[in-house]
Formats: sequence, C-alpha cells, structure tokens
Amino acid sequence: MLYKIGVDLGGTKTEIIVLDENLNVLERKRVPTPQNNYNEIINTITTLVFDVSQNISDFTLGICCPGVISKQTGLIKNSNTQCLIGKSLKADLEKKLEKNISVENDANCFTIAESKMGAGVGFNLVFGVIIGTGVGGGIVINNILHCGRTNIAGEWGHHILHQNGNSCYCGKSGCVETYISGPSLEKRWTQLTGLTQSMPELIANFNTNIGKQWKNEFLENFGHGLANVVDILDPDAIILGGGLSNIDFLYTEGKESIYSKVFSDIIETPILKNKLGDSSGVFGAALLD
Ligand SMILES: [Zn+2]
Repeated sequence: MLYKIGVDLGGTKTEIIVLDENLNVLERKRVPTPQNNYNEIINTITTLVFDVSQNISDFTLGICCPGVISKQTGLIKNSNTQCLIGKSLKADLEKKLEKNISVENDANCFTIAESKMGAGVGFNLVFGVIIGTGVGGGIVINNILHCGRTNIAGEWGHHILHQNGNSCYCGKSGCVETYISGPSLEKRWTQLTGLTQSMPELIANFNTNIGKQWKNEFLENFGHGLANVVDILDPDAIILGGGLSNIDFLYTEGKESIYSKVFSDIIETPILKNKLGDSSGVFGAALLD
C-alpha cells in the first residue's frame, strides 16, 4: 500500500497526517512550530515524518507552507514565516529525508484538498480562495493542481483593483489584498467608524447601520476581484476558505456582487463554503502528487 503523508507548516503549529490509499486518516498530530529558527523547523518536520513512518514502507510526502515557491530557484518568497524567506525548504528536506517530496503554498493545498475531499468534489475546474491575513487562490483542473509557468497561477490577491490605491508589501499599489484581507478590513472599519475591533468581533457584532459604507465597499471590492477571475477562468465552482469565509453575507450579497460584474448575462457559478476548515492545509499536503 502507498500511504500519503502531509505536513502543514503553520506560523504557530506544525501538523502531520497519515492517510491510506482510501484517504482514511491513520494518524494525526500537532506540535508547536519553532519560532524564527529555520534549522529547528527542518528538524521538527524530519522528526515528525520519522515518527509516523516507522511502520510504513512506502509513502509520498507533501508539505504545505506559507509563501510562494519560486519555480526557477525553488526558494520561498513572500512568506509571513520570515525565517523561511530565501530558503529552499524542499531541497533541504529532501536531503535530510533522502526522498523526493512536494511543497506547495497554503492556497494551493486548500484548493486540492477541497477539490478531492471537500466542497469541490464533482466539479471539474475549482478556484479556491483564501481570505484571511492575506488573500490567495489556487486552481485545480480535473483534480490536478494548475501552478502555471512561474508558479503564480491563482494569485488574484495581487491583481490591481484601484490604480494608485493602498500600497501593498509586494511593491505595487491597489492590490485586492490591501482591500479585502482581514487586517485591511479592520483598518478600514476603524477609519470609517472610529471603532477598533478585530475581524471576529466585527463579524459577530456586525451592525449594518454604522457599518453600511464598510460593507458596501467590501462587497464591491470582493465582487470586482472575483468577477475578474470568473471572466478569465470561468470556473465550475469557487470555494471560500480562510477566516473571512465565515462571513455569511459573502454567499448571498457577495455572490450577487460578483454576478453583477461578470461579462455574461448567464452566470450561476456556485460560491461555496469550504468543508474541511483548518484541516485543508494538512489534507492538501498529503494529496499533493
Ligand atoms: Zn500586492
């Protein structure tokens, strides 16, 4: 039997999972992610893999990690786990484990997991969206991840939404991420209402009266951002993940906002909530080929 091992390298926790050929979970555990120490991260992953694979002869291994992996150099770019930036996680782990492995970012792992085991089952072309601390996306076509020529396929968070708009860490201005990520929405909420609230508080106590402009702007930006994606990709389903996927109005008014901006009078693309929640990273990693 060929087992599938997945590791989700998160900012605070590292999780490992072992699946059998029928995708049953055989083992699953979590440990804290070493902070700001790349070598310790490598050691932690190596130890976890060694622990769970002692009685397994043949397995594939995938790693879900934050950031973008350069196709040219294999180095990690734009990661919010700073000590990974400029490192070749794949090559370093392959050397230690003496094995070929796959490494993909969290949006790609999310999309492959939801396509094969979650809300995307039965849809041919799935666009997976992560809206949380950042805004990312992934494309899966017939259960195969589409990474593109330079590994940036699906990165709609850095489409320009407003020319000369908010400045983005990527060096450009007006990126989608600077309008609809959790931190940017919190900032805008404070600008408009004078209130300082975290995104979960804000969602739980959302007051339509004082937050009317905030909500309208959010829906417009969300709608334009995803309508641009639909016009290029015309996916069979869009699946939302990340902390902001818990906002109910994205599936009603958010969906209508997308529909009204798409270049077609026939639009019925399902906008679905993820089914795997926080587990999509580790499942997606295990499902990487
Ligand atoms: Zn950007």
